[in-house]
Amino acid sequence: ALRTWRRLPPTLELASGSKCQRQGLSTFPATPSHTTTKSLTRQPCLALSQNATLEKVATDLRASIWKQMSEAGIKYIPSNTFSYYDQFFAPPAMLGAVPERYSWTGGEIGFSTYFSMARGNASVPAMEMTKWFDTNYHFIVPELGPNTKFSYASHKAVSEYKEAKALGVETVPVLVGPVSYLLLSKPAKGVDKSFSLLSLLSSILPVYKEVVAELKAAGSSWIQFDEPTLVLDLDAHQLAAFSAAYAELESALSGLNVLIETYFADIPAESYKTLTSLSGVTAYGFDLVRGTKTLDLVKSEGFPSGKYLFAGVVDGRNIWADDLVASLSTLQSLEAIVGKDKLVVSTSCSLMHTAVDLVNETKLDSEIKSWLAFAAQKVVEVNALAKALAGQKDEAYFVANAAAQASRRSSPRVTNQEVQKAAAALKGSDHRRATNVSARLDAQQKKLNLPVLPTTTIGSFPQTMDLRRVRREYKAKKISEEEYVSAIKEEISKVVKIQEELDIDVLVHGEPERNDMVEYFGEQLSGFAFTANGWVQSYGSRCVKPPIIYGDVSRPNPMTVFWSKMAQSMTSRPMKGMLTGPVTILNWSFVRNDQPRFETCYQIALAIKKEVEDLEAGGIQVIQIDEAALREGLPLRKSEHAFYLNWAVHSFRITNCGVQDTTQIHTHMCYSNFNDIIHSIIDMDADVITIENSRSDEKLLSVFREGVKYGAGIGPGVYDIHSPRIPSTEEIADRINKMLAVLDTNILWVNPDCGLKTRKYTEVKPALTNMVDAAKLIRTQL
Ligand code: GLN
Ligand code: ZN
Repeated sequence: ALRTWRRLPPTLELASGSKCQRQGLSTFPATPSHTTTKSLTRQPCLALSQNATLEKVATDLRASIWKQMSEAGIKYIPSNTFSYYDQFFAPPAMLGAVPERYSWTGGEIGFSTYFSMARGNASVPAMEMTKWFDTNYHFIVPELGPNTKFSYASHKAVSEYKEAKALGVETVPVLVGPVSYLLLSKPAKGVDKSFSLLSLLSSILPVYKEVVAELKAAGSSWIQFDEPTLVLDLDAHQLAAFSAAYAELESALSGLNVLIETYFADIPAESYKTLTSLSGVTAYGFDLVRGTKTLDLVKSEGFPSGKYLFAGVVDGRNIWADDLVASLSTLQSLEAIVGKDKLVVSTSCSLMHTAVDLVNETKLDSEIKSWLAFAAQKVVEVNALAKALAGQKDEAYFVANAAAQASRRSSPRVTNQEVQKAAAALKGSDHRRATNVSARLDAQQKKLNLPVLPTTTIGSFPQTMDLRRVRREYKAKKISEEEYVSAIKEEISKVVKIQEELDIDVLVHGEPERNDMVEYFGEQLSGFAFTANGWVQSYGSRCVKPPIIYGDVSRPNPMTVFWSKMAQSMTSRPMKGMLTGPVTILNWSFVRNDQPRFETCYQIALAIKKEVEDLEAGGIQVIQIDEAALREGLPLRKSEHAFYLNWAVHSFRITNCGVQDTTQIHTHMCYSNFNDIIHSIIDMDADVITIENSRSDEKLLSVFREGVKYGAGIGPGVYDIHSPRIPSTEEIADRINKMLAVLDTNILWVNPDCGLKTRKYTEVKPALTNMVDAAKLIRTQL
């Protein structure tokens, strides 16, 4: 099964017609997870006896990818893009920057040190992971300090280069650039937060020089440095670090062609100037899909003569077939500027962010399939574009592509006039509930009659093997609808009973009918398609399978009302209706590229609005609309934040602007890094927000300490659900007291950080018991 998940890298093809490809990341998520949740559960390290097998699989995988690229006609085939866990963990390994707590004693870094850092071991937890730019990929954040010692500790770049060479494949070794490595690191624990990471530049460059020298000796003629931080907002000091770094490397690099690769956005004009004047660099790579202004920039600023431009025209972040005619025209404009033999066709970024191979899709119908290109198909597109540019256009291939583009534009499955009209009507107008939040909370309290510090949970309860089996068998039509409904009903009633026994105030039904919080809704909405094997790595061996939004979105039938009403009928306590919000559905899907993202989001918002209103009509008084991924969609550049936040928050408000004052709208968000968007969160105007918090108490609460006025209900998570650890009553009470120091008593809710689906009942029951006890204890002290 491993081969199915193998990942192709970003591909580059020399315009001259000689075939080339740049390989980004080849990874083999061995245990794809069928979920888009962000829970970071770690798996135990591999036993030593398995190492040989692991290495064999890895070697075969690399060989097959190199071969595939080479057969596709790609000239610049990347190497050193393979990883056992995290592609961006190569520099810390190469530089021997192992935090002390992993007790590494030097030499070449082996599996045990590597996996201890990545996944933790019995005595030391793993290093922190965070999102890689605005992707859904998580990388291990390097930890650095003034005392970090660097040494040449992983010869992977050289050994992979040699490995490919032995197979007859000439590759371009890829290294994470020295400046991006430092800028993406964080000061280690105990190191002053103000420590200048860039001050370590002179300590790491000697190791880079050693690697370069070895690559040269091995026969390499090209080298690629990934410097994606160049697309961020950088200050003059940071930009100067790029100039300094490459000036320092210049003599070591002489004799090599040096490519600096950027991706995920435009390069700001200032940074473009810095980049194109770096010493010793002979080629620059740009993302021309997300970097919508790059072409104009190259036109207006000019391009250094005699240098190569690697043009990322084929989208590496999506699954749509390329519009070859449009790409060809972009390439032709670039060719006029940089010259015929200096333009290289490429994907916009690593192909690790898209699905692997359309060949593995058995469920998709042929019309939809004709609109798609996964990694394996993108490589072919790159090659076809390069050939066309060189005057060897494959007419049949271009004709088929144009026909697919036309069918996508005109298909009645894509366009739904009614939805288009309804979404267009939303633009320019505002959507808000009629009454302000404090009046609404009063009206709701009269109806709900909750105690102070009301307790609740985020939605899901443990997903047992039995539950997964029931859903699977129902899907495979092995059990009847009747059997399925009765099994789920039994589960809901169990979850309701547990919560009543625990004395929780606002209940949930536990989400037993849901495989995943986005897929469950996507499957019931029009305009969505699902792949069988479209896995994308999220982190380590964990993968997600994002739905594909290909058409206008509508909701033919209620999606959750049946289950929510059933759950409410089992208890006299309020039962939360549980929905996923439009922004989260959007951000965790492959989104259509033929209309702006906000338009698709508004369409989803209208579909969710209908569901909200049906739940209300069905007697559900509390409705939670999860926006777990709202922050994830934040653009990389500050200048674009306001626009995104504006439509994202508007979309959320659209879903619930029509409900009565007495209907309580909750929302939930994962991750606690909200300080910079707190005003947008307030502007969402939810009645109650539950928010992940327990891993960084101080961070979230500091916003309120600094005087941000928050008048709606708020439940910062009181315990970490990502860990099996059971928090004590005292510990939770202590947390609640800390929150009460900065938040009004009458707005505070008590709840865990996130849903409980990845936990076991043996953990959930005692943890929730202690949580309710803590709330009750504090109530007596008020
Ligand atoms: N309601 C969802 C759950 O409880 C929320 C999950 C999430 O925030 N990722 O599982
Ligand atoms: Zn969450």
